[in-house]
Amino acid sequence: MNQELKKIIELAKIDYEIDSFGPKEESLKSELNKLVGKAAEIKAKIESLNEEAKECRFKIAKHDTHLKELSAKLADISKKSSTLKTEREIKALQVEEDIAREQIDFANEEIGRLENLESGKKDEAKKLADSVGKIEEDIKGYETSLASDLSALEESKKSVYEKKDKLVYEVNPKVYSFYQKIKRWAGSSTVVSVRAKACSGCNIVLTDNDYRKVIRSEEINTCSNCGRILYLDETEAENG
Ligand SMILES: [Zn+2]
Repeated sequence: MNQELKKIIELAKIDYEIDSFGPKEESLKSELNKLVGKAAEIKAKIESLNEEAKECRFKIAKHDTHLKELSAKLADISKKSSTLKTEREIKALQVEEDIAREQIDFANEEIGRLENLESGKKDEAKKLADSVGKIEEDIKGYETSLASDLSALEESKKSVYEKKDKLVYEVNPKVYSFYQKIKRWAGSSTVVSVRAKACSGCNIVLTDNDYRKVIRSEEINTCSNCGRILYLDETEAENG
């Protein structure tokens, strides 16, 4: 096989590895990012529950103030009742007292309802706070293992880049720039194998003449349809 072609095949393998580093890094980080997002979501929920509990407390205080006013009013009514003379006055005061008592009942019911609501919100917030605590512990664990995974990835990156630098230095510059030109649009499928006589980049079957050239591989051949660099798949090469 043409030596330059051999090098270009090798170079394409290295570039493929280099292109995979980004996605690898992303996938390493994705679990951690998910957890961080989940923790933030729960924290926001806790905050809104606390706000809602505060709102309940505020309404309870208002009802309390109203209750004080009502009980003062009742005391007032009972004082007044001893001074009344006519049936009509007594009846009017009785109506006033009934209304005040109804209002007291209503305020007490509301306070009870709001206190239940408030404690429900607080309980839920507390439960969520516990689950956030657990998630944050998981996050710490992930961060530690991620740091070592990333540094391992960094190490392999370094060695792959070194390999590439060495190889690029050995490749004929003209061949290298030819490869680069194709790589700009073909990406990781710049150098593709020929299987069952077809270019595995575009799946078009080669002409007999082109196929023979690929078998001989005396030079760097490209697919006449898509322009990718071609080499013979090893299993095909063995079959002749
Ligand atoms: Zn092709």
